[in-house]
Formats: sequence, structure tokens, C-alpha cells
Amino acid sequence: MKAEIIAIGSELLLGQITNTNAKFIATELAEIGIDVYYQTVVGDNSQRLNEVLEIAQKRADVLIFTGGLGPTKDDMTKESIAKCIGTRLVSNGEALTYIEDYFKRTGRVMTENNKKQALVFEDATILPNRHGMAPGMAIEKKAIRYILLPGPPHEMEPMFRDEAIPYLLGVTGKKEVIVSRVLKFYGIGEAELEFRIQHILDKQSNPTVAPLATREAVTLRLTAKALSKAEGLKLIEPVEKEIRAIVGDFIFGIDDDTLASKAVDLLLANQFSITAAESLTAGLFMAELAGEPGISDSLKGGVVVYNEETKIKHLDISANLLSEYGVVSEECAAALAVNAKRKFDTDIGVGLTGAAGPESHGGQAAGTVWIGIAIGESTPHTYKLLLSGTRNSNRQRAVNFALYYLIKQLHT
Ligand code: ATP
Repeated sequence: MKAEIIAIGSELLLGQITNTNAKFIATELAEIGIDVYYQTVVGDNSQRLNEVLEIAQKRADVLIFTGGLGPTKDDMTKESIAKCIGTRLVSNGEALTYIEDYFKRTGRVMTENNKKQALVFEDATILPNRHGMAPGMAIEKKAIRYILLPGPPHEMEPMFRDEAIPYLLGVTGKKEVIVSRVLKFYGIGEAELEFRIQHILDKQSNPTVAPLATREAVTLRLTAKALSKAEGLKLIEPVEKEIRAIVGDFIFGIDDDTLASKAVDLLLANQFSITAAESLTAGLFMAELAGEPGISDSLKGGVVVYNEETKIKHLDISANLLSEYGVVSEECAAALAVNAKRKFDTDIGVGLTGAAGPESHGGQAAGTVWIGIAIGESTPHTYKLLLSGTRNSNRQRAVNFALYYLIKQLHT
């Protein structure tokens, strides 16, 4: 079976967004053994979409479309494809109710064009959209399968994994299941990780072991093919164990874990309250935590103390400490953590100070960061980073490292 991925959207052609959908789908298809020989990008234009369709029909058995299902463009995409493959668009009751409920829930006014999102091909298998409004579709016509998916990756990716993959496995008649486990690393680069587990990468077969570096983390995806999920997990287990024995110190989570979600899971599981005193990051650390549901049971509050005066006035940091060691120092980070913890009466206090750049600050080179983590009554843990990014990437990386060190502390 050969597939072609067709991404629809003028913003892709204009270079305003990157075609990450094609990358995601291609990776997933490779895992279930479906070849992709062509990927196409076409703008929101029915004539050109028709041309693309006619060519793709000659060279692929599965055509996978992303984008253009939303209220503004659905006429063009769905109607063009419907005309080309000879089917009709009908309103889907379930999808319409879901859309109406969404507008009721959010107190927004539903316009006429929103209803069009519930239009589907009359003989299609509906792929429910659990993260947005427009449903996806799968349909077979003249031995060619057409799969239509929404554009936004947070809608498309789960729909592809949970709905389109089982549909395709059903079509290919493959009995085997694909079981994946993603290991997430922080504090180690992709090159070093690969170097340290090279012998595992060299001998991989089932499961396969695929490294990938994203902006937040380095990941290893272990993918096994087996006749059942349990059997797949059994194949993954010894390989995961071997990897953990070598580089387990850098693993902060698995699968969908992020640094923030993992830190919050551990805070909540331990029933620890937390606060932060942020200089360098001016609230970014707490904002990351606050992005996670349930955090109000742990995060009591915190302070941004950006200059020396506010550190002294609002957090009782001693003027002597600042003049002796400077604001960008181990002593300052530790004092920020300890004093915030005391002021907010929490189990944990985190302090962040540093020179974001591009200029040096407090006598320290740009990119120098100190993080303090005070837990209970024990001596605060302190960490030094020497970063080399831009001002804002240094600030974000300081937050990521603070979350990572917090996870490590909560694990031990
Ligand atoms: P919506 O209901 O949001 O309009 P849609 O299915 O009509 O969804 P588009 O309007 O084509 O999809 O795209 C919506 C957004 O999804 C884009 O602005 C972009 O951020 C993202 N997107 C679309 N296509 C891709 C792609 N191929 N790769 C990555 N992101 C994409």
C-alpha cells in the first residue's frame, strides 16, 4: 500500500507555517509499514486541489489530506474532493450536536458557517474530533482510500493515532499491533545520548529505537510490533531497562509527559506546596506550573523580585549577601528559595537568578544562571548553568532546568 500526504493551506506555501503534519503522518505510517512516495502541499484553491487529486489518484492507494476542514475553508476542500470522487455532502447529526454544545458551553455565538463543519461525505466513516469541532473522514472509492483530517496539529495528531491508524490497519488486514513507549530526556544532548547507547541502536530490530530532539527534550521512541499490546510491551521492557541502566539519570518522564506536567504530577502525588522567587525569569517558572491542571493544590503564590531593592525589601535578602556575592550567585539563588519558602509557608521554594544576556549582569557573563531549590528544612540544593542562547531562550532553558532539577529532587 502506498500513501500520499496532501497538506492544504496557503499559509504553508507562503512559509508562514511549517508542514509538521506531513512529518508526523509520515513517521506514523512508516511504523505500520505503509510507504509514502510523495508529499504535496497545495494552497486553498479548488482548481489546484483538483489537479493535485488527479495526479495523486494515479500513484497512491491512500490519499491523506490535512487542513481546510474549518469553518472558513471547508466549502472549498470538502466540496472539491466530493466532486472529484463522486459523493455528496450531508450534515452529520452527532457532529452538529457536538458543535452546538461547544458554542453553548463557551457562551459564544454560533454562526451559519460553523454548521458547515458538520458536513461529511454521505458514505464516509467519521473520525471523531476529540480536540476540536470539525470531524475527520475516511472513505473508499474505486479502490482508493481518502482520509481527511483537520489542520491544527493538536486535533490532527490524536485523530490520526486513535482513528486513522486503526482504520488503515483494518484496511491492510494486518493483525499486528504497534506498541510505542517514548522515553523523555533532559540535560543530555541528542549526540551524547546516541553515543552512549550506540550498541543498542546498532542491534535494534523489534522494538525499533528512534532518537528525536525536540525544542523541549530529547526523546527515544521504542516501537514494537506484536500480536497484542501485552506482547508488544514485553518486547519493549528489556530494551527500556537496558537504556535506563545507562542513561536513566536523564530520563524525566515517558510518553506525553512534559517537564511541567511531570513536576506537577510529583508535587501533587507528594502533596507538596510550592512557591518561587523569580528574578531572571520574571514569573515564567510559575506560569509553566500554572499551565498544568490541578496545580492550585500546590502552588500557593510567589514573587518576581527583579532588582536588588525588591529582593531586599520584599524577600529580606540581605544587602550584605548581595554586595559580597552579587545577585547572580549561588548564595542569592539559595536565599531566594529559602526566603520565599518561609514567606509563603510552603514545603518547597525555588529561586531563579541569572544574566539573561546579551550583556553581562551582576558581574557574571551572559547566560550564567543559578537555581536554588529548598525542600523542607534541609540545606537548599543549588545548580549552576552556563547557557549560550539568546536572552529569551536562556530564560526558557533556565525554567526547563529548574523543572528538571525539581523532578530529580522529588524522585529521590
Ligand atoms: P480550523 O478549524 O482551525 O480552520 P482547518 O482544518 O480548516 O482548521 P486550516 O485552517 O487549514 O485547518 O489550518 C488551521 C491551522 O492549523 C493553521 O493556521 C496552522 O496553524 C495549523 N496547520 C494547518 N496545516 C498544517 C500543517 N500541514 N502542518 C502544521 N500545522 C498546520
